[in-house]
Amino acid sequence: MSNTEPNSGPTAAPIRAPTDGGSADSGTEKAHFLRHLIREDLAAGRCAGLVTRFPPEPNGYLHIGHAKSICLNFGLAAEFGGACHLRFDDTNPATEAQEYVDAIQRDLAWLGFEWAGGVRFTSAYFGQLYEWAVHLVRQGLAYVCELPLKAVRDYRGTLTEPGRDSPYRERSVADNLRLFAAMRDGEFAAGTACLRAKIDMAHPNISMRDPVLYRIRQQAHQRTGRDWCIYPSYDFAHGQADAIEGVTHSLCTLEFQDHRPLYDWFIEHLPVPARPRQYEFARLNLSHTVTSKRTLRRLVEEGCVADWDDPRMPTLAGMRRRGVRPAAIRRFCADVGVARADSRVDIDMLEHAVRDDLNRHAPRAMCVLRPLRLIIDNYAAVAGELHALRLPRHPEYPEWGERSVPFGAELFIERDDFSTDASLSRKRFKRLVLGDYVRLRGTFVIRAEQVRHDAAGQICAVHASLVPGTLGANPPPEMRPRGVIHWVSAVDHLPCRVNLYERLFTVAVPDTGAASLLPQLNPDSLIELADCRAEASLRQARAGESYQFERQGYFCLDQAGDGADSDADAPAADSNKKPPLFNRTIGLKDSAPKGSGPKDIGAGKP
Ligand code: ATP
Ligand code: MG
Repeated sequence: MSNTEPNSGPTAAPIRAPTDGGSADSGTEKAHFLRHLIREDLAAGRCAGLVTRFPPEPNGYLHIGHAKSICLNFGLAAEFGGACHLRFDDTNPATEAQEYVDAIQRDLAWLGFEWAGGVRFTSAYFGQLYEWAVHLVRQGLAYVCELPLKAVRDYRGTLTEPGRDSPYRERSVADNLRLFAAMRDGEFAAGTACLRAKIDMAHPNISMRDPVLYRIRQQAHQRTGRDWCIYPSYDFAHGQADAIEGVTHSLCTLEFQDHRPLYDWFIEHLPVPARPRQYEFARLNLSHTVTSKRTLRRLVEEGCVADWDDPRMPTLAGMRRRGVRPAAIRRFCADVGVARADSRVDIDMLEHAVRDDLNRHAPRAMCVLRPLRLIIDNYAAVAGELHALRLPRHPEYPEWGERSVPFGAELFIERDDFSTDASLSRKRFKRLVLGDYVRLRGTFVIRAEQVRHDAAGQICAVHASLVPGTLGANPPPEMRPRGVIHWVSAVDHLPCRVNLYERLFTVAVPDTGAASLLPQLNPDSLIELADCRAEASLRQARAGESYQFERQGYFCLDQAGDGADSDADAPAADSNKKPPLFNRTIGLKDSAPKGSGPKDIGAGKP
């Protein structure tokens, strides 16, 4: 970075980065080339302090790919005591909207990062950028080109052929000044003129073949209204915005590598106040999903998902709604690391991070997804006055305390956890079989005695008996249970709905082409269950809270997109409303085959 001058460093308050994953504080951060390079730059005094930025274009919601860039930019700034800016790259009013500006700030804050100083906008620099464009015109380094935009592209040439000069290239400085002012004043229709840098139409790097600096858009901007009808290109705006803000290290994804000479050319030829440098890293590609705003927008617009915050979406808003905690995303980004070569990360790795995080943070509860009535005929004789059990909220954290779980003669068990087929092997079916034994989680061992059928011939209830003396103790060997199943009181429980989510795409690498995208969607990515029964303690669940439903996976009480659904504090309070909805974040790793081993003796206490 020979042309990097010392930078005055951050002016705003130092930023905070979470310490439970994804930051250097965790001590598990991998070494990577950017960290190494920044350390060298600081040691050599090439910059006085580190300033990075995260520059989203407000034309969609943040996704898991952005999270990588966020963790990198904010994480490095925190690690080196620098600053990271949030700057909206809002140079294209055709596709941008305030909704996205708001959503991006919300998601960034949720992920746990604070930007230094206020929110910044490239649009705030439109005046300065215009002056710098005029500066280039004065130097004979930019000209107004009246080729139609398609011709501008055609004249650019290819990787193997040089471009051709525009017939407008040799205009005088005076003409260019006048015409550029006319562009600004709205005297040209959109698409009939643009301002281009005058560099080299035969340059081996196509980015350097007289790139477009300004184009006309007769469109109101969400922040500057009708002040401008010409808007700077990404290339012209980005590096100069970095310079205005004193950014020292402008980190971007690999597709901008070819633009770096142009980035440097502008910095070289303009009287900018600082000399930022661009560095590229590989973007995050994830299997079984897509990380491109354009494709995500298609899924929303074509009704494949409910919205940007649909829990199946790889957006931060979608993942939040699904019950993923921000720490898991930060951990994942730290584990993925930073490299210079493109690759695709298996979604297993994200799922592992999510599961691992929830295992440590989610209290346990029981919920029956597809209820089958279980009637215990000898309940009064064996359990007497036992009406509830106290079970631990988390098996490894006794300090979390216990929950009271109503128990009684009428329960619900999972339909899938019962079979009348006595030939099922004990090894393969560790659940309840007619005439055999199973343990009800945290309580007695029971034996299934007989079944009742409804008018349609469907099993509608199972009659069972408690094995005396098995509460918190093992039965004699001949009554050894097949396994442990979960249950819920049929009398005192929380009726609820559950949405089961699976991966959005059936293929590992979705083809995002127009026709091929939709047929690759997983038709079972959402299964809605309307008649589920959760244990009574979940009446206290609050929107966004996660639980492990034992033997099922991790679930969270649905929340409004912004996580601020206040009336969800008491989910069952209003009987006119639909029952509360739990979203499955992710299944338990070892959920198939279902059922844990019979060694687990009941931990319940009366
Ligand atoms: P998309 O392709 O989804 O539209 P983008 O790059 O156009 O993404 P921006 O809003 O411009 O979206 O991105 C803001 C920042 O996030 C940029 O610095 C960009 O490089 C980075 N970024 C975007 N997608 C990824 C990704 N998949 N992996 C890592 N960084 C990403
Ligand atoms: Mg972009």
